[in-house]
Amino acid sequence: MTIAVFPGSFDPLTNGHLDLITRASRLFDQLIVAVGQNTAKQGVFTPAERVAFIEQSIPDLPNVTVRVETGLTVAFMRQCHATVLVRGLRNSVDFEYEQGIAGMNHHLDAHIETVCLMANPQYQFVSSSLLREVAKFGGNLTTLVPVPVARALVKRLGSDEQ
Ligand code: ADP
Repeated sequence: MTIAVFPGSFDPLTNGHLDLITRASRLFDQLIVAVGQNTAKQGVFTPAERVAFIEQSIPDLPNVTVRVETGLTVAFMRQCHATVLVRGLRNSVDFEYEQGIAGMNHHLDAHIETVCLMANPQYQFVSSSLLREVAKFGGNLTTLVPVPVARALVKRLGSDEQ
């Protein structure tokens, strides 16, 4: 039985993340989505809010669970008996970034294998940070995030600029 972990900030969940979660859930017996705080990024939604968005969006994926993760991803993975770390690649910038993280995680625990899935071309341009900008200025988020996420983004970020 292979347990995989998909760690990320998910601030907030996008349809690009959701596509990756769905595809990874078909590849591994169990998938744990680990919501963490990227120390270089300021959070808009609390970890609990981010977990709730993901849980609401995956009712049809019984082998996926969502957890908050603090600390080192490899330590979290050992606790969960997970051996595969899933990440997504949209472009060469992601590749450079993921290569560094994968190298460090391999150094920290050589038993953990990083598996990168290519982004669905439909969502290659979608990032949480860009969507936060679009929401701030009242842009259309339809088809890029689940409906509850779009509503929450506009409520939290959109009010005074529109
Ligand atoms: P982090 O702050 O850890 O990079 P993110 O939530 O921004 O967290 O991204 C988590 C993972 O999801 C990363 O591997 C990222 O490359 C991937 N990802 C982000 N957006 C997309 C997308 N639109 N399609 C596929 N993968 C994505």
